Amino acid sequence: MTGVQPTASAIARLIPVSTGNVGLDGGFWGERLRVNRERSLGHGFAQLERAGTLQNFRLAAGLEGTYRALGADVIGTVFPFLDTDVYKWLEAVAWELGRAPDPALASKAHEAIELVAGAQRPDGYLNTYVQVIGGGRAYRDLAWGHELYCFGHLIQAAIAWHRALGDDRLLAIATRAVDSIGQATGPAGVALDGHPEIEMALVELYRTTGDRRHLELATRMIEARGHGAIGEGRFGSAYWQDHLPVRDASTVAGHAVRQLYLDCGAVDVATETGDVTLLEAVRRRWHDMIATRTYLTGGLGSRHRDESFGDPYELPPDGAYAETCAAIASVMLAWRLLLATGDPDCADAIERAMYNGVLVGSSLDGTRYFYVNTLQRRTQRVAARPGDGERVSWMPCACCPPNLMRFLSSWPQHLATTDATGIQIQQYATAELRAEVAGAPVLLKVETDYPWQGSVALTVLESSDRPWTLSLRVPAWCRSAKLRDGGTDRPSASTGERTISETRTWRAGDSIVLELDMPARVTEPDPRVDAVRGCVALERGPLVYCVETADLPSGTELEQVELATGVQPTPVARPDIAEGLVGLSVPVVDGAPPSIGAIPYFAWANRSVEAMRVWIPRRTARNAQGTNRDEG
Ligand SMILES: [Zn+2]
Repeated sequence: MTGVQPTASAIARLIPVSTGNVGLDGGFWGERLRVNRERSLGHGFAQLERAGTLQNFRLAAGLEGTYRALGADVIGTVFPFLDTDVYKWLEAVAWELGRAPDPALASKAHEAIELVAGAQRPDGYLNTYVQVIGGGRAYRDLAWGHELYCFGHLIQAAIAWHRALGDDRLLAIATRAVDSIGQATGPAGVALDGHPEIEMALVELYRTTGDRRHLELATRMIEARGHGAIGEGRFGSAYWQDHLPVRDASTVAGHAVRQLYLDCGAVDVATETGDVTLLEAVRRRWHDMIATRTYLTGGLGSRHRDESFGDPYELPPDGAYAETCAAIASVMLAWRLLLATGDPDCADAIERAMYNGVLVGSSLDGTRYFYVNTLQRRTQRVAARPGDGERVSWMPCACCPPNLMRFLSSWPQHLATTDATGIQIQQYATAELRAEVAGAPVLLKVETDYPWQGSVALTVLESSDRPWTLSLRVPAWCRSAKLRDGGTDRPSASTGERTISETRTWRAGDSIVLELDMPARVTEPDPRVDAVRGCVALERGPLVYCVETADLPSGTELEQVELATGVQPTPVARPDIAEGLVGLSVPVVDGAPPSIGAIPYFAWANRSVEAMRVWIPRRTARNAQGTNRDEG
């Protein structure tokens, strides 16, 4: 089972490979998951205790004390959704313990579950903020109170514990909490939270328990949104997607995470109710978002003021908001759309967002985090405000760190899918995949140094005597792919082919190798993105690269660097950043020194933080005869 598990009657095209059937412990993702498990989860628990987030559950259970946030007593107001930090951390632990036991981690999780259980009121209601400093008055401010949003994360944690471990303690708590929503919905049978999240959780609760009331409530929430019921608030009704009905809005709008979580719920409702027009509305909106409002890194959100999408092509690199949670939410949505439609664009978008916009949210050691992910930091900004904007160990609004933890721990669920005909490899990682294909078990071994190299070896370890199809995604960035099968090479049929498929009666020991040509690329922006017109970005495989001051010739300021037309970056090992990491060396003038270094965007800010930029200006005719440092 996985976090998103459409029922047999849903209109989903693809089925995820169950988390217990994915053995992922090597290669690039093996290391990222090891860091998440061994460093981030312990760090997260300590931070939840230090910040007071766990203590707030003790207070809600009756302990005397003052509500706390970020280690300080709260006087006045504070974010009312801190409970979700605990729920997201618990979800992460469930997926991890499902992959392998860890008694120390389990003991911390059991302590947290006991605290959650102890805080729940007899009527099922549970929200430490309302119970401790809100006078116990539930559902008084659905627009800003985040009570149903909190329940959404509680439900998702509960489902992870149920599916990964068969532990139903949280599921009992979550079900009782959902029953208390009747106090909020009134006779109309619907309540709208200003921050969507509970919709997708309710559908998953239906998928888990079979209780159709949860699906029906989620459906009513999706249908009721967009009719101005929540009000204008501080930022207008589009901020919380209440400006247009969910099935009518042609573009994403407002707060990015809210929009993406809402659309996750809409896809889940659509697949379970067979609502093709609702599914198509989200799919259209998603394609428009990818084409017009998505950073090269897969980041989303151009405006800081209301954490919102900008206008089409409003993608300033220095002004990027690109909250880590928005990148995670975009992967969650693309995954649901991929399962529902099989659209390979979704798997490509997942890859771009994961390797760039999501991973950048954490330091390589897994203990420091970005909330905002800029694509450019200037030398003068660093000089004027040292340390400002660097990763931090926790935040007053700590939505991103535990969201990263739960998402990384569930990442193995996103590697492969099945349908009636065979297995589709959606993301390349060293792993063993077990699946049932055409009613018979299959065990497949994948070995690769991806994303550093484009070679992926696949070996069948077990299969039956029935034929099935192995489908391999050809990423959109790849211009040349071929399949090596024994002594023969089979090139991809045509440029732009999205999938290479091989149907046969597979035997144990059969082996094929996918070769994805992976030269470094100099990428031109869409000319409509005016903020980076005249610039280029460096990419290789699924990775977006950036330049930090530390990799410039000494005495050069990052703002002085320009790249001549026709320069070809070359891959170079960068063990100084991380073992196995591949950087780029880029001559600023073709074929001549000096060269600058570029590293993967996700790995920036792991040295002393200086200036950084993703988009580099093209060398202009004005100073093309001089050296790079000429003023022209
Ligand atoms: Zn966040």
